[in-house]
Amino acid sequence: SLQEKLHGTVLEINLNALRNNFSFYKKRLAPSTKIMVMVKAFAYGGGATEIAHHLAQLKADYLAVAYTDEGVALRNDQIQLPIMVLNPAPESFGNLIRNKLEPVVYSCRFFAQLGAYCKSSGARLAVHLDLDTGMRRLGFAEEDLEELLHLIGKFPELEIASFYTHLAGADEALHENFSRGQAELFMQMASRISDILPDTPLRHILNSAGIIRYPEYQMDMVRLGIGLYGIEVNGLHDEALQPVSRLKTTISQIKLLKKGDTVGYGRKGMMSADGKIATIALGYADGYDRRFSNGKGQVMIHGKIASVIGNVCMDMTMVDISHLEEVQEGDEVIVYGKELPLKDQAAAIGTISYELLTNISSRVKRVYY
Ligand code: PLP
Repeated sequence: SLQEKLHGTVLEINLNALRNNFSFYKKRLAPSTKIMVMVKAFAYGGGATEIAHHLAQLKADYLAVAYTDEGVALRNDQIQLPIMVLNPAPESFGNLIRNKLEPVVYSCRFFAQLGAYCKSSGARLAVHLDLDTGMRRLGFAEEDLEELLHLIGKFPELEIASFYTHLAGADEALHENFSRGQAELFMQMASRISDILPDTPLRHILNSAGIIRYPEYQMDMVRLGIGLYGIEVNGLHDEALQPVSRLKTTISQIKLLKKGDTVGYGRKGMMSADGKIATIALGYADGYDRRFSNGKGQVMIHGKIASVIGNVCMDMTMVDISHLEEVQEGDEVIVYGKELPLKDQAAAIGTISYELLTNISSRVKRVYY
């Protein structure tokens, strides 16, 4: 039963919530707009294979991963959807071809290298062009276009399946002018490239925040990430979205302590009065950030908040439960979930929900329901 599986630390993945969130975005988009879902980084910690299978059932159009190995793992698990690979290593070109994975090409150097590889191995490959309009991470800049057009002519082995750009500030109103500038530059660059191609590739620029803020830029496809997992991005959240994952653990031991007793490594925690602590089965090796030490992190036990006391250990953390009655060893502890939003925990240690989600380590069992 689910109950049995829940012992220890588990990440519960609610597939109904995933379905709900997918259809929330689907309904906001024009029927012809395709949805690419970002399943990189183990599907934002949720488990790439299971989530990809579910997305195939939901009729997502495309998947995207960061590295070739992530794509190969999906192919080995019989995922048939087209898969874009954001940052493939040159050593993995053979694997891209054998697994029908579609690399992003972001520079002339890379285009020529991949083109030469495909030419010499007699392969054709669908590729996606990353156009840098202001993110300044990867991508062709405007001044690269001349050379890019030349390379496109030289290497017909690379079939351009799409162009895209990534908005650097889609989640903040403050960056609206910049985002609109990015979209405009993108359209100009994309049309210059399209002019020399027999077929018009797909164009896409929006991430989750962008879908909500700039639906007018949905073009042919959007790239949905964090929103699918039901996480709020800078207030751009709809009540209709549901968090997909809940991190839960259990209490291993409860200790009664006296005022002045210290807790954990470095004796960083100290009881300010007589009270009690619970040791929970979760530590930084599970991805529970050590910055949650000494009161920064909060968990929920029986619907009430308890704060971390002392330093987070590798496999365990102590929380102050002096104010909680009737708590027992073996009781459930919620670490992140609907009841205890990830965003607030992330803010407490100066990071973002994405980092907390993708840091939940592989030793934490994923349970799907
Ligand atoms: N597109 C690209 C190129 C990305 O790198 C990412 C994620 O980092 C996304 C889309 C999805 O972004 P979000 O998770 O904010 O929706």
